[in-house]
Amino acid sequence: MDEYLMVKGIVCPLCQTKFNTTKVKTTKLRMTDRDTDFCTYYKDINPYFYEINVCPECGFAFSDSYTHSIMDEKADQFKKEISSKWIRRDFGGVRDMDQAIETFKMAITSGEITGAKHSRLAGLCLRLCWLYRMKGDKDEELRFMRWSVKLYEKAYQLEDFSGEKSMDIGTVLYLLGELNYRLGEYESASKWFNIAITKLTNAPEVSASKMAMIRDRWQDIREDIKRVL
Ligand SMILES: [Zn+2]
Repeated sequence: MDEYLMVKGIVCPLCQTKFNTTKVKTTKLRMTDRDTDFCTYYKDINPYFYEINVCPECGFAFSDSYTHSIMDEKADQFKKEISSKWIRRDFGGVRDMDQAIETFKMAITSGEITGAKHSRLAGLCLRLCWLYRMKGDKDEELRFMRWSVKLYEKAYQLEDFSGEKSMDIGTVLYLLGELNYRLGEYESASKWFNIAITKLTNAPEVSASKMAMIRDRWQDIREDIKRVL
């Protein structure tokens, strides 16, 4: 194991197997750049490669923030659809880009079968989109960006973000504006930034810094959008 990585013990939330996986030492992370949709670049090591834990016994793939318990019927469905065909594989150790991509696809499938929230699936699709960006695969980057947008839209319609620590309404609306802009969907981008600014100004749950970020980004791109629409 090199100087950037460490071994962490994990318990599978689906089958309760204990296994080891590799994580990046956060003290070693040096951020070098960040895109406007939050895709972040680090020197020497890519922590996204190690974000997903894959249970070697049952094939369930999940991030560290996956803490809610899985309903029995959903667990049974996963065992029937995935575990029954799963041939034991260990994703511990050092991962490359293609293995990292595979783990995110497995996490999306795992989440879909076990009833993960739309916002969680949207976040997984967005990270997968970033990995394809880093790989230089534009078609796949845009495919997962579109998928992420659809899921964030559903999340906005159906989910309550008031008690969420990992995702807030300001970030969801910002991403809906930003990702639509990146996809060239300028009318939708304009719609979502307008919703964000109208709905969230003076909303107590959205911080002043997040509001400033939304306004600044809208300021930056609205002239560009106006020229086209
Ligand atoms: Zn398992």
